[in-house]
Amino acid sequence: MTQNSKNVVILGATGSIGASTLAIIEQHPDKFKVLAISGHSNVNKLAELARQFKPKFVVISDSSQYTQLSRLISDECTVLAGAHELAAICQLDSADLIVAGIVGAAGMQPVLASVKAGKTLLLANKEALVLAGELVMKAAKDNGAKIIPLDSEHNAIYQCLPDSYQCGNTPRNIDKIILTASGGPFWNREASTFDGISPEEACAHPNWDMGRKISVDSATLMNKGLEIIEAHWLFNLSDDDIDVHVHPQSIVHSMVCYQDGSVLAQLGEPDMRIPIANGLGMPERIASGANMLNLLQSQDLQFFPPDYEKFPCLALAKEAIQAGGTSMAVLNAANEISVDAFLKKSISFTSIAKINAEIMNNTALAGIENVEQLLQLDAEVRANARQMVKHYA
Ligand code: NDP
Ligand code: MG
Repeated sequence: MTQNSKNVVILGATGSIGASTLAIIEQHPDKFKVLAISGHSNVNKLAELARQFKPKFVVISDSSQYTQLSRLISDECTVLAGAHELAAICQLDSADLIVAGIVGAAGMQPVLASVKAGKTLLLANKEALVLAGELVMKAAKDNGAKIIPLDSEHNAIYQCLPDSYQCGNTPRNIDKIILTASGGPFWNREASTFDGISPEEACAHPNWDMGRKISVDSATLMNKGLEIIEAHWLFNLSDDDIDVHVHPQSIVHSMVCYQDGSVLAQLGEPDMRIPIANGLGMPERIASGANMLNLLQSQDLQFFPPDYEKFPCLALAKEAIQAGGTSMAVLNAANEISVDAFLKKSISFTSIAKINAEIMNNTALAGIENVEQLLQLDAEVRANARQMVKHYA
């Protein structure tokens, strides 16, 4: 480790984003030191990562697993447990970069803790922004925290903006941004057969290898909906300024259209190590381990308008932005429950959008006040959505 190496905290180290982050760090032992890692349920994997990367702190967010994890690695590092400690590792004085790779609303509090501590936050956990974008962006601004998006589309936009650009500000001189979407595994599938889609089919994404929840979100296009909301908060744009183009090849990761008619895009292989290496290395460019894009061997690059009828979750996200306040938090909570129920084979694929829509219609909206209000709302919506799942089961 050199004096200039950065200390990295990886939230959700046992997941797909965690694995891609660690794969890059492994290639650059002179540039990065893993300071702390977290996992939730996969104790053996977390212990394995602790032995390999030797962090000072290891947090298991599910406290009931603490004893088992301690038994495995307490000789080698400090083992901590629970949500409070998860937030605490994001505020360590020695932490330079926080990688937010937890899936779902569970990532909100560590994300908030990171920005409140004025840290540089490499953000993959889009649900934290969907749930609490207003609070996260305000806390980042108030405390001088820097947010670098890792989600491939948002990282592409970020790369196409000037070096001086800081997330939270509206980019200057732009006409709009275009988020690309692969269309997921069912873009060409007949909608009348959607009821029979299995979790295995939904998780088999044509271009990207990801965790199960985001894979289902990609199949319903809820992922793109969540990403419109994510872009709304990151880049301070209204939903009218955010277009979606379906681009089945996943080579163009998103675009910024400037007022002079210039369209800047970021291209690359569909490999999350590219945006993660961008965030870790900034302001330098570092090797990611991904293959270099060879446009001579690429297929045609195609672009299509999204189909809001076939994929109603996309429209729900736009409605949520327009409604504002707590509506995005409501949509997020409903979707986490409906996707989980689908993965457990309790409901059909098409029921995901129906439950999300019904919950949105049945929940009174309010302005965002504070974290406690959001946590209470999140819990209430989840309870209602669980009841609704029973009707659709
Ligand atoms: P995975 O399911 O692969 O990993 C999720 C991680 O979060 C695991 O480390 C898991 O721990 C942890 N976790 C799960 N539940 C909780 C909880 N209640 N509290 C604390 N930690 C928890 O997901 P991905 O890596 O695919 O996705 C992570 C985030 O990044 C998501 O928000 C996703 O939308 C976003 N993202 C992912 C991309 C990808 O390519 N994978 C691309 C763009 C964005 P454990 O495994 O130990 O239970
Ligand atoms: Mg994405």
